[in-house]
Amino acid sequence: MAIERTLSIVKPDAVRKNHIGGVLAKLEGAGLTIIGAKLIKLSQEQAGAFYGVHRERSFFQELVDFMTSGPIMVQVLEGENAILRNREVMGATDPAKAEAGTIRAEYGADIGENAVHGSDAPDTARTEIAFFFAESELQSR
Ligand code: ATP
Ligand code: MG
Repeated sequence: MAIERTLSIVKPDAVRKNHIGGVLAKLEGAGLTIIGAKLIKLSQEQAGAFYGVHRERSFFQELVDFMTSGPIMVQVLEGENAILRNREVMGATDPAKAEAGTIRAEYGADIGENAVHGSDAPDTARTEIAFFFAESELQSR
């Protein structure tokens, strides 16, 4: 199996509810290693660019407003099969459909306020990591 890197975000709803630690514990508990992390607040421009793939979707502005509504915690995760492993521990996009024990089942409120983001493929992982981190900010181990 390949060692991969993926981008993870604790979204503003989970940060507001003091669930940063709970989310990171689940990520580490799933065998993922945090090799970079920062707490930041996105501008409308940054959030729009990050979610540019959803620009034509009906919920785009709602998504941008939500993602800029407060600080987010962004982290780079590393490990075997990290992209899929992260998606598994995140659970389904809609917390109501997420499997018990997943981050979204535990901490998500609804399909908009769903606690976390995770890259969905190797190419998006690369782009999304570079969106937030310089290579010098990552401590691979
Ligand atoms: P993410 O990209 O945040 O990891 P995802 O890959 O599971 O989530 P996407 O289809 O990429 O889901 O949607 C991106 C985000 O847009 C979702 O996480 C959610 O916050 C928001 N979103 C998706 N569908 C809806 C919807 N119908 N109404 C409101 N927000 C939505
Ligand atoms: Mg997505």
